Amino acid sequence: MVEHHVTRRGIRDRGVTEAMRTVPREKFVSPGCEEFAYEDTPLSIGEGQTISQPFIVALMLEKARLDAGDKVLEVGTGSGYTSALMSRIARRVYSIERHERLALQAKERFEKLGYHNIDVRVGDGSKGWPEAAPFDAIIVSASAPAVPSALKAQLDLGGRLVIPVGRSEQRLKRVTRTGAAAFEEEDLGGVLFVPLIGEDAWTAAHPMYTATAPPSPETSASGPGSPRNAEGEGMEKIQLPGGVLDHTAFQRRFWAIQRIAWIIFTLLLVACLLGLLGRGGPFSRQTIAFPEGAVDFPVLSRWKAPEIMTVNFAPSSEDRVFTIDAAFLQSFSIEGVDPPEKATFVRQGRIGYVFPGNPAGSTQIVFRLQTQLSGLCRTTIGIDAETRAQSTFIFP
Ligand code: SAM
Repeated sequence: MVEHHVTRRGIRDRGVTEAMRTVPREKFVSPGCEEFAYEDTPLSIGEGQTISQPFIVALMLEKARLDAGDKVLEVGTGSGYTSALMSRIARRVYSIERHERLALQAKERFEKLGYHNIDVRVGDGSKGWPEAAPFDAIIVSASAPAVPSALKAQLDLGGRLVIPVGRSEQRLKRVTRTGAAAFEEEDLGGVLFVPLIGEDAWTAAHPMYTATAPPSPETSASGPGSPRNAEGEGMEKIQLPGGVLDHTAFQRRFWAIQRIAWIIFTLLLVACLLGLLGRGGPFSRQTIAFPEGAVDFPVLSRWKAPEIMTVNFAPSSEDRVFTIDAAFLQSFSIEGVDPPEKATFVRQGRIGYVFPGNPAGSTQIVFRLQTQLSGLCRTTIGIDAETRAQSTFIFP
């Protein structure tokens, strides 16, 4: 994950990458999601919240320029993963989460992993943690309508606050305290986070929320017209991942392809288990019908298997010609021809068998599989002037 999704995408801070190699992300995801823990994606952690996408976490931590001696704050503990990373880089971490269940769960994880330099509190992080201030860095893991003034005030001189701001159009900002009342603000790019819900953040009464909230495709229950309680719980139901906007679109496509691949694999597996593709199964043979006859052949086979390919001509008073690529006879040999052919010719790499017209009955050629060549075979089969290219012979 660190190689593919973090360093390759430009994160250079050794403290951040080392922390990411150390902290087991699978311990911070919901049970059953462990196999996705090292994919660059936000994952659901319950309460309508997500553990943020690793790349965006790495980016936020790098931009916060954390130092070993720092005292830092995370607003929006969530699973606890970001705070855990911060605890591997900085001296002391304060982490605040509004959902009690998430806060308690994160606290338990820190204890189990032996991360003893993290304090967790349940509360509204838009007000910061005044008793522990000032902080060298503050990371806010949910998007605010504007930079909360309490958080700015709790920055030490030179302190950095990294925070997503906005609703449907969110921007990641870094605010650096340059003086007692002086701050420098930088734009770090577009992101997509769950909303920061609190007194100095989004609430049902917040004018920006009421004015701009778009209907969420993920939930019909919390469209802009839906009732919300005073704490903005209606907003909380809106499922927004914590991650980079453009990457999320790529990720969705990747998931879609992955899902299709799994479906194909599962269907093939089931077909194999049911014997559908095995010898004798309904999909193990194929028949190509020509107006003058038909060719019945094995699609899947094993060498040495007693497989045959038969060519049957319809009754006809005219001569019939069957043609096939000469190379194909490396795989099949002629076992029987009834009645015997009138002539055989070779033309442009193809062998032709000419049969006298037989208005009374059918004419049949039987080929027997005798190949040791494996893989997909392609050949062109023809009766009279009509030919068909086939590439479905598989000799495993
Ligand atoms: N950094 C977290 C992690 O690594 O799992 C992910 C955080 S999740 C994207 C955002 C979290 O912010 C949610 O758990 C949400 O409950 C929390 N949150 C939202 N508003 C909050 C507030 N005012 N105070 C504290 N936490 C808040």
